[in-house]
Amino acid sequence: MENKNKENADEHTFSPKELEEAEKILIKMKKDIFKEIDAGIKEGSSKDSTEYRGDNYDIASSERDRELMYMLGDRERKKVREIDNALLKIKESTYGICDECGEPISKKRLKIIPYSNLCINCQSKMEEEEKKQMNEEYIDHLSTLSLMDNDEIFKDSDE
Ligand SMILES: [Zn+2]
Repeated sequence: MENKNKENADEHTFSPKELEEAEKILIKMKKDIFKEIDAGIKEGSSKDSTEYRGDNYDIASSERDRELMYMLGDRERKKVREIDNALLKIKESTYGICDECGEPISKKRLKIIPYSNLCINCQSKMEEEEKKQMNEEYIDHLSTLSLMDNDEIFKDSDE
């Protein structure tokens, strides 16, 4: 019994080396996103870009990060936020813990998506909710569009 518990705990406990690995991967992912944006900017205009060149890339330079955040699309911005959150969790030794329910996130999942901050259950629940919300907004939108028609139909049938 005791052994089994220990095994379960090990399964979700990250060794310092594993955390270091995860941190490296996360930082690289973040850099890659920013590099892509950076490259896009440089293509557009060459002014004032040399000081930001490659190797001296300081991931902690939040001002530059913030500047680049404006250039990101919604999807990338969301990803960067998730990566930042995961990095913070590594620092606070809560990496691999679900933000929503506090249960451990499976290592298998973290290997595929190192920046996942939700366990598979909460993730799918959230996606369901997002979908539902989007549907509701869409229905709202539709009913707004057809409100006038409905009114007229209503009047007609009422009298
Ligand atoms: Zn969860």
